[in-house]
Amino acid sequence: MDKISVIISCYNEEESIPLFYEEMERVRKQDFAETEFEYIFVNDGSKDKTLEEIKELRQKDGKVRYISFSRNFGKEAAMLAGLEHAEGDYITLMDADLQDPPALLRQMYDCIKNEGYDCVGTRRVTRKGEPPIRSFFARIFYKLINKMSNVEMVDGARDYRLMTRQMVQAIISVKEYNRYSKGIFSFVGFKTKWLEYENIERVAGETKWSFWKLFKYAIEGITAFSTTPLIISSVIGLLFCLVAFVLILVIIIKTLVYGDPTSGWPSMVCIMFFVSGIQLFSLGIIGQYLSKTYLEVKNRPIYIIKETEKDEK
Ligand code: UDP
Ligand code: MG
Repeated sequence: MDKISVIISCYNEEESIPLFYEEMERVRKQDFAETEFEYIFVNDGSKDKTLEEIKELRQKDGKVRYISFSRNFGKEAAMLAGLEHAEGDYITLMDADLQDPPALLRQMYDCIKNEGYDCVGTRRVTRKGEPPIRSFFARIFYKLINKMSNVEMVDGARDYRLMTRQMVQAIISVKEYNRYSKGIFSFVGFKTKWLEYENIERVAGETKWSFWKLFKYAIEGITAFSTTPLIISSVIGLLFCLVAFVLILVIIIKTLVYGDPTSGWPSMVCIMFFVSGIQLFSLGIIGQYLSKTYLEVKNRPIYIIKETEKDEK
């Protein structure tokens, strides 16, 4: 009998968890008569009653397992912890807010079982219910990163996916500290099928992603899977050297022919500002990569577990 592990990362989801569990159980009873399940709730340092809610479920249902972090380590860390602790043959990642409909699971499972895929991912074809400005920047981000990186990032792809044990093992073997899962999923390869669905708004609670957090996540994605920005800054530097060289020639000739009236101070200031701006920008890019390298070299644990269901007596 196959076993499916459902990994749910939770950060302040006390309201969503009971609703999620109810819906998931409904789907399981309806669509999966002959499959074993385990639910792994990863409590990512929630500040509300998330852990209590999970423990309550654990009391009445032995399928429920949990991992509770010592603080908030972020969704990437939560997903990794879930993957590392899952025992199933097929493993799926879900959000607690029911934006990843469990009802799709049967179809995903069939694709892997009958059509020979290793992974079935989901992507939203609409971004309904999202602020337009956020969708706009998301589009630009995907355009940019796909130009700059060899690894393909699918626009609208969610983390919700069902994977074989083999693929999960490959993902776990990617040991980097700065994890950008969407990139890692493509990086490990394997045959992936995409199911499309309309965006669904969360059932309860609110999104944990502010615009600033998303912006930082986007930079994470770019620096983790592309070194193109480094090349861009070199090219800009080179271009400016060329321009400067031509200008110097022009000025020398002009001085020799027309003498040297002291003019052009305002334009000089503009150029100085512009060029030093570019320099700082390039330095910033290098700094990004350097800081990533710094964090990788330190080799800190990606998450720290405070307790799991195994600690219970
Ligand atoms: N999440 C998490 N750690 C965090 C932030 C979010 O585990 O630091 C979880 C959250 O509980 C939810 C999922 O990640 O189950 C997706 O978060 P959210 O719904 O806020 O993001 P959105 O769907 O709006 O992109
Ligand atoms: Mg959500």
